[in-house]
Formats: sequence, C-alpha cells, structure tokens
Amino acid sequence: MSCPLSDKTPEFASSYNVTILLLLAHVGYTTGALRVSQRFALRRPLDYRLVVLMAILPDVIDRALYAFVIPGAEGGRLFAHTLLFNLVLLAVLVAIRRDLWIYGLLPLVHLLLDLQGLRAEQLFWPFLGADLSNVQIPDGLGETAGQSYLDRVANRLGAIFDTYGEASLWSFLIDAGGFVALTVLAVRARLYQWPRLRRLITVGSI
Ligand SMILES: [Zn+2]
Repeated sequence: MSCPLSDKTPEFASSYNVTILLLLAHVGYTTGALRVSQRFALRRPLDYRLVVLMAILPDVIDRALYAFVIPGAEGGRLFAHTLLFNLVLLAVLVAIRRDLWIYGLLPLVHLLLDLQGLRAEQLFWPFLGADLSNVQIPDGLGETAGQSYLDRVANRLGAIFDTYGEASLWSFLIDAGGFVALTVLAVRARLYQWPRLRRLITVGSI
C-alpha cells in the first residue's frame, strides 16, 4: 500500500496515521466538554468559532507547515505540538486580554488528547534535545525534497486528507465519538434552526 503521510519514510507515516487523533474528535470532545462546563461552572459567554479553531490549532499550524513550508518535515506534528509553543501562545493571549485564557488552554488540551502519539522529546522540545529530528524534521530546515514544490504540496495534501488510509479501528471509533458529541451538541442547541445556526456563524454563540 502506498505511504499515506510521507513521501520519505513509510514506517514513520504508518505509525503516525495509527496514532493520529482526528480533527473531528478534537473538535467534538473539546467543544462538548466546554459546553458542559459553560453550563455548570464556567458561567461566561464563549465564542465557539474560536473554540473550534483553538481546539485544532496545533494541527492547523503543523499540517500547513508540513504541506506548504518545510520540505524536510516528516509528518503533521512539528513545532506546534510542543509544550513550549503552546505555553508561549497561552502567555501571549493572556497578555493581550486576560479573559482569553480559556481559549489559550485549548491547544494544551489538544496536546493532552494527542499524548498517545507524542514522544517526550517532542512534547518537551527543546529541553530533552534541541535537535529538529525531535520535532520530526530530521534533516533540518534546509532540506529540499527531491520533488517540485507543486508535486510535494499535492502529495502531502493528499496524505493529510487520507486520514483513514491506514487508521486503526480504534482511531475510527474515537473519531466517531467526536462526531456523536458534535451531533448531540447541535441537536441540544437546536442548530438545525436557521436563526440559531446563523448566530453561531456570525457571533459564535450557541
Ligand atoms: Zn494534533
């Protein structure tokens, strides 16, 4: 079977795919948990558009870097899947506006959900070794893949969207759980009614 997530290292790509937690799961579990805590403890309005973005931010950043920017990257978990990056992000958000802390915590929750597939050297990079191989860029930032830019981008985008290519049944079930959480949330918030859906799209509240 062709390698789904890398044009260079099949074994890595295969293990990457098996341990990947899919976007739907991140969005479903994080949004669901936040909705419940908003009702019972966290009595404050939330912008759910921002919640969704922050729940998947490490994947958005690293997959964009993998697909478009860093030829030597071997997967979609790079700098944005390090604790350092997300703590700095949290600090920056809180410095901008104190009540943004809740959004700044969500990429850390993302790391927690990804934990099974993250090595300690990556999570704590650069403290357990500053080598870029620890953030899945083994040949450094200067590496140029032996393909044209467009070919590489096309390959890597294909790999990113081929999320179920070699995924295990377990990954599929985790993602299905995220989908169920989102469905329950949508039904309870009556997002099938256009005015409510429009409110979510325009101001982010449900
Ligand atoms: Zn991730």
